[in-house]
Amino acid sequence: MESKIVLANRVQQIKPSPTLAVNAKAKALKASGADILNFSVGEPDFDTPPHVCDAGKQAIDEGFTRYTAVPGIIELREAIANRMAQDRGWKYEPDQIQVCCGGKHGLYNMAQALFNPGDEVLVPTPYWVSYPAIIQLSGATPVFVPLAEEDDFDLKADILAQYATAKTKGIIINSPSNPTGSIFSAQALESIGKMALERGWIVISDDIYDTITYGEGTLAHILDVNPALKEQTLVLNGVSKSFAMTGWRIGYTAGPQHIISAMNKIQSQSTSNPSSVAQKAALAAVSGPQDFPVRMKEAFVPRLDFIMNALREIPDVSCVLPKGAFYVFPNLSAYYGRSFNGKKIEDSVALADYLLDEALLATVPGAAFGADKFIRFSFATSMDIIKEGMKRLASALARLQ
Ligand code: PMP
Ligand code: GLU
Repeated sequence: MESKIVLANRVQQIKPSPTLAVNAKAKALKASGADILNFSVGEPDFDTPPHVCDAGKQAIDEGFTRYTAVPGIIELREAIANRMAQDRGWKYEPDQIQVCCGGKHGLYNMAQALFNPGDEVLVPTPYWVSYPAIIQLSGATPVFVPLAEEDDFDLKADILAQYATAKTKGIIINSPSNPTGSIFSAQALESIGKMALERGWIVISDDIYDTITYGEGTLAHILDVNPALKEQTLVLNGVSKSFAMTGWRIGYTAGPQHIISAMNKIQSQSTSNPSSVAQKAALAAVSGPQDFPVRMKEAFVPRLDFIMNALREIPDVSCVLPKGAFYVFPNLSAYYGRSFNGKKIEDSVALADYLLDEALLATVPGAAFGADKFIRFSFATSMDIIKEGMKRLASALARLQ
């Protein structure tokens, strides 16, 4: 029977997270016995380190199970401030930091605190799947600024200028990027910073992959390239990727006190606080030894090498070498227009469906990231799966005529 209850416009505007949807489908198929190789969701295939789990267990044993301060426990905010000072040389006070229920929630709080209907928010594209929906849920409009494969997905100042208008309220940058693995050059960050200062934009720097970078040199950051921006920048991070804590749901934001305070108002009226137990675990992660993210990154290097070499051997495929994160984003569009059993593959959704049906490979179509020529593969999975997966990919693509 059709319901008489009509849903709110805001929810009708958005789709469920495609990364989580493909992951759920892949897991269901696997549970039903299919030999699925899952390259879809981006989460480390490592367990949360034991000392972090122990801190969570201890919190339960000690009865640390009640509401906490809305922005998160003071010890954790102090530890985050210390970590940022030690690793980056940035000075934040605990009242300039909000702890929330995962990085995604931090972005949600920011958007609710900052954006109005009619505002435009610049989103370099390919983008992470949740940016447009989070912006739309605030009533604002995402404006997609194209990044080119030929430029290694770096941002070009002249392109950025074409998309900036009087309605632009801010820009989200994500370097290293999900899905491309690219890192913005110091030049790109300088031009973003210059425009942001001139026009009074808020800069949202999503640093969730900042511990996972490959190659030499330190990661350029907009706050280092342009320190004057600190008063109009929000830095987003969390422990999901760096400490393999995706299920614990702890993220954090550092920024100007009045914006953090506005975000705290939103949080006090929605989630109250992030989980008390998870905060104690995150405290152990942030304040304890920092070798875990380094070891995890070292484990990703041979996987990245293998997957890049395998992609280079497949005809008509190009792929920008990722400089960070744990995704490859090959351009497979040369295969669009080809057919299997008389059925033509027209786009990334059709190709990802074909790879799932015919090669039992779960991937995320580029369309989910605003880039239809590409398919995303997460290499935060075992070398055995990667080896078998690349074999299946090559053979499935070869079968298209
Ligand atoms: N930003 C980016 C770019 C991401 O890929 C993710 C993915 N999980 C997040 C933010 C949010 O992370 P979480 O909510 O799991 O902490
Ligand atoms: N960020 C991860 C991904 O892109 C996790 C899924 C999600 O949060 O949407 O796969």
